Amino acid sequence: MRPFLLLLLAACLLPAQDRYARLMRDLLIFDAHIDTPRYFLDEGYKLADEHRYYELDLPRMKKGHLGAVFFGIYAQPQDYPPQLWLPRALEVLDALQREVAANRNRMEFAVTAADVERIHASGRRAALASLEGGHLIADSFGVLRQFHKLGVRYMTLAHFATNAFADSMTGDTVHNGLSPRGRELVREMNRIGMIADVSHISDKAVLDTVAASRAPVIASHSSVKAIAPIVRNMPDEVIRAIAAKGGVICINFHAGYLDEAAYNVYIANRPARDREIKEVLAQHPNDPARWERVRAIQKKYFAKMPKTDHRLLLRHVDHVAKLVGAGHVGLGSDFDGVSGMVPTGMEDVSQYPNLVKGLIEMGYSDADIRKIMGLNLVRVMRAAEEVAARP
Ligand SMILES: [Zn+2]
Repeated sequence: MRPFLLLLLAACLLPAQDRYARLMRDLLIFDAHIDTPRYFLDEGYKLADEHRYYELDLPRMKKGHLGAVFFGIYAQPQDYPPQLWLPRALEVLDALQREVAANRNRMEFAVTAADVERIHASGRRAALASLEGGHLIADSFGVLRQFHKLGVRYMTLAHFATNAFADSMTGDTVHNGLSPRGRELVREMNRIGMIADVSHISDKAVLDTVAASRAPVIASHSSVKAIAPIVRNMPDEVIRAIAAKGGVICINFHAGYLDEAAYNVYIANRPARDREIKEVLAQHPNDPARWERVRAIQKKYFAKMPKTDHRLLLRHVDHVAKLVGAGHVGLGSDFDGVSGMVPTGMEDVSQYPNLVKGLIEMGYSDADIRKIMGLNLVRVMRAAEEVAARP
């Protein structure tokens, strides 16, 4: 390349690099949904160690400048009998809190927006807890209140199946949205300062939740239907309703949710994949290496899917920002909940800087990048706290 072209290139690149370096000095990156805690419990996975599998640990959080995470606590209705949903949720929450306590020099459990800001300013990482699915509270508001006391700060109203409170977007239509009990639940969540999460619930249930709620709601891990028209994604009218109430849509990184062609391959192969996994687990019930075998099966099926990358993920972010403003979009990777189906350039938590660089390239201002990468979520936490503090 000729010298003057090199100089021109350097002149174009330097300001972007300066901006990037300045932003990264104190940027809060806050992910609304990561599912690692069950690995602490089931596989002895340790936050402190750097791994070559799964998507989150402390060394990789540091590399990726990930400052705060809402960890998902869940027991899938299809994997556990109903009497084990609540004890399983408590055990997973306990495992999360024990892991965080074991790394207290690097991480702290947070329950308020102010906690997140203070912990981030101290150079450590904030861990927060969320419950994925109203079935986990045994239909009891008393149990909900106790989970709040244990530090849980949002609850997804339903998971993959419809429950007493809400229709799931992948379950039966029983209530035509939220049930009367579901509306009561949302009011009780507002009263105690628990954010209502509308990922997984039907479009009508989202609209009902937004109407019932006195506080902003979040979609903790949902992508955009206008880009990938699949059942788990959100249509524009629902995104508009969430934003109009002051809420945030946190984009899910699942490769199959970012791209319809990838989704179709994933769904076509899922029964065979799940059958193979079940067989391996049944054949090796006490073998510590059985999870490695499971990951190899997941990898084999993931390789059949068309490739997606972090630029496609940023198109989902950009769609929401253009539709309703950068004040209403965030990140909800669903890392460690997507069976390894992650986009290229965003394979684990060490890769968030690629999103920051991408947003700079796309012309986003520093203020908007700060909102998208984390501050929108802090704002919604604070709004939920303010609603709860009102008489
Ligand atoms: Zn989920």
